[in-house]
Amino acid sequence: MSLVGAIERINGSLVVAKFEAEAKIGDLIEVGNLKLMGEIVRLSKETAYIQCYETTSGLRPGEPVFDLGRPLIAELGPGIMGTIVDGVQRSEIELWKLTGPFVTRGTNIAPLDRGKQWTFKPKVKPGDKVAGGDILGTVQETASFEHRILVPPDLSGTVESIEKGDFTVEDVIGLLRSSQGTEELRMMQTWPVRRPRPYGERLPLEMPLITGQRVIDTFFPVAKGGAASIPGGFGTGKTVMLQQVSKWADADIIILIGCGERGNEMADVVAHFPEITDPRSGRHLIERTVIIANVSNMPVSAREASIYMGVTIGEYYRDQGYDVAVMADSTSRWAEALRDMSGRLEEIPAESGFPAYLADRIAEIYERAGRVVTLGSDRRVGSVTLLGAVSPPGGDFSEPVTTHTLRFIGTFWALDSELAFRRHFPAINWLRSFTRYLAVSSRWWSRHERGWEEFRAQALKLLGEASEIEETARIIGEKALPDEQRLVLLLAEMLREGFLVQSAFHEVDTYCEAEKQTRLLKALIDFYDAVEPLIRQGVPIEKVRELGVVTELMRLKERKGVEPIEAASLEMKGQVAKLAEEYEVTL
Ligand code: ADP
Repeated sequence: MSLVGAIERINGSLVVAKFEAEAKIGDLIEVGNLKLMGEIVRLSKETAYIQCYETTSGLRPGEPVFDLGRPLIAELGPGIMGTIVDGVQRSEIELWKLTGPFVTRGTNIAPLDRGKQWTFKPKVKPGDKVAGGDILGTVQETASFEHRILVPPDLSGTVESIEKGDFTVEDVIGLLRSSQGTEELRMMQTWPVRRPRPYGERLPLEMPLITGQRVIDTFFPVAKGGAASIPGGFGTGKTVMLQQVSKWADADIIILIGCGERGNEMADVVAHFPEITDPRSGRHLIERTVIIANVSNMPVSAREASIYMGVTIGEYYRDQGYDVAVMADSTSRWAEALRDMSGRLEEIPAESGFPAYLADRIAEIYERAGRVVTLGSDRRVGSVTLLGAVSPPGGDFSEPVTTHTLRFIGTFWALDSELAFRRHFPAINWLRSFTRYLAVSSRWWSRHERGWEEFRAQALKLLGEASEIEETARIIGEKALPDEQRLVLLLAEMLREGFLVQSAFHEVDTYCEAEKQTRLLKALIDFYDAVEPLIRQGVPIEKVRELGVVTELMRLKERKGVEPIEAASLEMKGQVAKLAEEYEVTL
């Protein structure tokens, strides 16, 4: 039975209403004659403070409010994949069809299509004992994706019947005899978005999420099931980077959350994303992507919900045994929505006006990343990797959202507007970024590519030294530096141009496989090790710079495969030996 109440006052998106009895915090509410959606965020006795997901203009005191008696939930089942929904899981496309770009308020449509039929193939038979998380059967959700229909987490018993055939998400596909009686099985289940979905056990992180982007994989890897943060101002290449990761990361599913970026920016993503080709299947990437974005004119509170909606959907696919990458852009807008709501509730503000519980909320979100053994008897493994963009005002990393985020994530990709200005892309600053997943990544790489950790450390050391030398060079001029230091500068340049810079738009360079990354880095470090003794013995740096192989080493990234690297390494050895002979120095 739903509770009924009446509006007392309206303050922006906050509606204060009196109920006839005590409601519950988090309950979903239909507000006013327009039936706007909202959520109870605070209660005192029968007075409820309702955060409305839609603009409240036109509402009047005295209008009725209905408590739906349940929190904001996600509908989980076939039909999620490939869709674009808003923060409360309404299909943007269906909304547009219904109302045009300016979504009429109070338009409520069911998240999952009720009319569409899916072909269900059972994996269990009558008499089988099943429990939460077990696979009942499968549905080909999109051409490239198989959806596994799971027993809901809190259900267990014996399968009484199970049907094969075409069903809608609400049709009964079977019966389960449990200790409570007979339960109907359907393809759709629901879950409250603010509660993490349960799993069997948490696993230690064991491998990096390979993205084919060299600066990420080799220098600042994120673990599969880990969390990373990407701060970056406008024009620093955040969108291109998130797209590259979506396209190339070795994740099965991509969840893209646009929590309240400006409407037109999101509209851009929504317009372009469906056109991206999936390198795995040659089909469209959208077939294994879910986009949660507020393209319409929804107020801040709907943004606040979108991140939980996205993570919940991510967890649901994790529970099916898939690796999921969830990308939120940007968590700063989400935090601003939180601040706005807290302000309306007249809570005591902490740093920069954010509520004191900001850090807890950020932690709660990043804690939902992880690699787990799912529920279910077959011990499937799935993961959610969380990548959150932050947009610190004025690029100031000391503001609260960035600083709190840094406590809970493992990798930080510091996008740098100066690098972007110099067209150094991805504009990840190698001196300001970090990863806490080095040990995890190193173990994985050492099984695949020998020497990874050593080359990485050497390259980072050289890049660090080069930045210090550049400081001096700025004062006295590069020519006045000793040749040993000028060699470090040369190598840093080669590392930047030949390794760190990676064009998203170059046919070959857009993706660099793990093996090629290590070989490439090794070739560059080998070059340094080969010429360093020559410089020490007085061979002028200009002569080294003039070696033909220098340019070739910087272009190797654009050549297909690893063979050209082997050839260039041989060539390099020859050219260096010749130079040594010319100057009569020992190698
Ligand atoms: P942001 O989302 O941070 O505002 P974008 O991702 O739109 O920035 O990037 C701005 C521009 O920078 C792009 O249009 C593109 O020209 C360039 N760019 C960004 N990343 C790369 C990349 N990896 N390779 C080549 N060009 C890039």
